[in-house]
Amino acid sequence: MTILLAVGDCFAAFLLGPVLAELRARGVAFRVVAGAPEREVASLRAQLGNDATVHVVADEGAADRFASEVLTGSLACVAHLGAGVLTRRLTLLARQRNVRVVGLDGGVRAFGRPAGLALASTGCVAGELERLALAEHDVPAHEVAVVGDLVAKALAALPLPSQAPPKGLATLLEHATAADPLLLEMLERGGWPQRAALPEHAGVAAWIARAAAAEVVLTDSIAWQRVAVALGVPCVVTPAAGLWAPGVAAGLVTQMEPNLGAVLRVVARAARAGRGPGPVANESAARIVDVLQGVPKATAFPLPSEGDATGRTFGNDEAALVAMVLQRGTLNSTRGTMVTTFEKRFASWVGSQHAIACASGSAAVHCAIAALQLRPGDEVVTTPITDMGALTPILYEGGVPVFADVDPVTLNVTADTVRAQLTDRTRAIVVTHLFGNPCDLDGLQALANERGLVLIEDAAQAFGATWRGRKVGTVGRIGTFSLQQGKHITTGEGGIVVTDDADVARRVFLYVNKAWGYGDKKPDHYFPALNYRLTELQGAVALGQLPKLADVVAARRTVAATLQQALAGVEGLVLPRDPAHGTHSWWKFAFHVDRRLVPGGPRALATKLQAAGIACAPHYIQKPAFQCELFRDWRTSPVTWLPLQHNPRRERAAAMFDPAHYQGALGGLDSVVVLPINERYTQAHCDYVANAIRAAVGALRHG
Ligand SMILES: *Cc1c(COP(=O)(O)O)cnc(C)c1O
Repeated sequence: MTILLAVGDCFAAFLLGPVLAELRARGVAFRVVAGAPEREVASLRAQLGNDATVHVVADEGAADRFASEVLTGSLACVAHLGAGVLTRRLTLLARQRNVRVVGLDGGVRAFGRPAGLALASTGCVAGELERLALAEHDVPAHEVAVVGDLVAKALAALPLPSQAPPKGLATLLEHATAADPLLLEMLERGGWPQRAALPEHAGVAAWIARAAAAEVVLTDSIAWQRVAVALGVPCVVTPAAGLWAPGVAAGLVTQMEPNLGAVLRVVARAARAGRGPGPVANESAARIVDVLQGVPKATAFPLPSEGDATGRTFGNDEAALVAMVLQRGTLNSTRGTMVTTFEKRFASWVGSQHAIACASGSAAVHCAIAALQLRPGDEVVTTPITDMGALTPILYEGGVPVFADVDPVTLNVTADTVRAQLTDRTRAIVVTHLFGNPCDLDGLQALANERGLVLIEDAAQAFGATWRGRKVGTVGRIGTFSLQQGKHITTGEGGIVVTDDADVARRVFLYVNKAWGYGDKKPDHYFPALNYRLTELQGAVALGQLPKLADVVAARRTVAATLQQALAGVEGLVLPRDPAHGTHSWWKFAFHVDRRLVPGGPRALATKLQAAGIACAPHYIQKPAFQCELFRDWRTSPVTWLPLQHNPRRERAAAMFDPAHYQGALGGLDSVVVLPINERYTQAHCDYVANAIRAAVGALRHG
């Protein structure tokens, strides 16, 4: 069975992420049709830079305003990508108003220097092509507008011209007349000939044919809802999508939550209760349930997921504590007791003098960096293989992040790789205990002592890991943790900073609280800082979670030991282990695949595992942090640009990221496969995963 995913615009596309993961986990094959499904508004904004205004059309009022703004005034040209419903409508309207229409795919060179330019796309307008087009025509970024399907709705109310149809439309007509009532309607109203095929858009027709062959169409696009209904294929719609009313009435369009498990439950409940839009709808809902529920049994063994209750440890304790907060009615921590109690208990659990809770793991790192009181352009040596939330704080505090290479097996920095990056401007070392595996803290602390540097341990992934008997996070001057959904314990979002240094603790406390001196005789805002507080609701959950942490770590260690044993001797794999002087706390089980012994390497292996419902990640974060867009051009943001102004590296910023210096990071990422594990894995789950890995390696080696 294949499911077709049709993604109309970038705003809704990100919602499909969890659905994709869920489908992969269940081994369901799927195809995606979209302009650029994985790109989101945030990345669009990042690419356009800070001074760009991006119009987000989130409701019909906005769509109306947008249409009248964009298609009047000094607009010289509408450049479009693809041939989705929006593009069709907008180009029609533009033509009617004598605005030039150019297809960006291939048509880029056809126009001069327009005074204004609207990019209309049902996909996302963030691709390389668009950037090139903009640069080539010297178009100021603030004149770029992004539009979604809702605009099409607004435009649909307007009269259509009677002239020759634009290119893309003609092709659609050729192949899709029977499938798309919208097209039929346009055809009628425009008085256009039905068959004027243009081969370059034949791809759209192929997708319509695939939709016809699919069991279910899963989409956020109104246009694809129409197509599905015309084809008689059941259609499931994400919450961000507008529902096409006739489709709902026909019982072929069903709304869902962005999580397939939840969808199944909602749809099944509706089907059983006999509620919903009508009898036909229930029939089709039941059909979707049949189709989707049949799959996991056939192909996969459902594994506990950290994304929901199956892989987490919530219970009555958390619920009761949250209820208590609501009964008291004090939801903020400055007047409450949950967060402060959690801080005390966490300090005692980890073995530090002070613990200060905050809004996220990123905020925790930010607090730690802020406590250093860097001078502009000071350097902080850190790892390129970590969460971005551990890196941007350095920039925000005026520091220049300098990346040390990592060990190709552990992917952790070492004293040697850090030493190679030290200069007289280095002030601190921030290490990440990746996947829960402690870095060599002996070497790193000795280096920090020798050079008078502050060692910060980012232990977001390493709750309960130890180094020579001490919990990590307490060896360096400052330790940070994250309470984000996927970490050992969680409050959804959240973080905590630990230290034995009273001055650091004071500075961090202030940093979480807009630097307002609560409790001081003459309090003031002492320096610039944000509100990074955790709420009492989160504090309550944290208090409920903390007593479970020891068991969580123990359970994860058992899972890892079971996998190590079951996979011992599989040729071509390098398995993770405890370090010589410490214990791993197994946030993930990351192993390496030798592509000389296992043809296709990590990617081929991961594809097979994903088909077996094991949501693993080949290459972990895909690329070292310094290859992210953020570091491509330091001038695009004052946050990256200003620290560099105070550092001699500004003359050769690109040289900081020479791949020749990062052989460990690049090589390590190239061979690693990261297996998700959690405390709810049983022996049966471990057996299933280990057998799937053995089978996949065997198939790749001998098949
Ligand atoms: C998760 C994580 C962070 C960021 O934590 P958030 O709570 O997501 O902001 C920072 N560093 C590392 C190593 C992490 O794994």
